[in-house]
Amino acid sequence: MLWRALRLSCPNCGARPIFARFGVLASRCGRCGLRPERGEGDYFIGAYLINLIAVELLLALCVLVVVVSTWPSPPWTVLMWVSAVLMLGGAVACYPFAKTLFLAVDLIIRPLSPEEMAWHWDDGAPGERVLPDR
Ligand SMILES: [Zn+2]
Repeated sequence: MLWRALRLSCPNCGARPIFARFGVLASRCGRCGLRPERGEGDYFIGAYLINLIAVELLLALCVLVVVVSTWPSPPWTVLMWVSAVLMLGGAVACYPFAKTLFLAVDLIIRPLSPEEMAWHWDDGAPGERVLPDR
């Protein structure tokens, strides 16, 4: 499921494309009918969190590699400007992956039930969705 998400495919069935345009998920998967936001209006917050963590980790790794490889005189000014560009560019570039990864993690934690799939296929309203028992 995580591999499908990293390939920007539907984490549930692997169908592509699952994006309507860059960074915007389609209203539903064309194969399995899954609605990517699972009827929750605040679903994007989880993707933001994953995006923030991924970009910060990648940036920290890049800075560490540059500092270690150029020690004892790292190019601090260049590093500061390149880091700013990488942080902004990385946030944009990683956002689609963060969205599919968050959906995959959510599907692992809260697997689809037959009742929820019926809700996806029937275009149910968010308040009508049957949540799995915890
Ligand atoms: Zn699907």
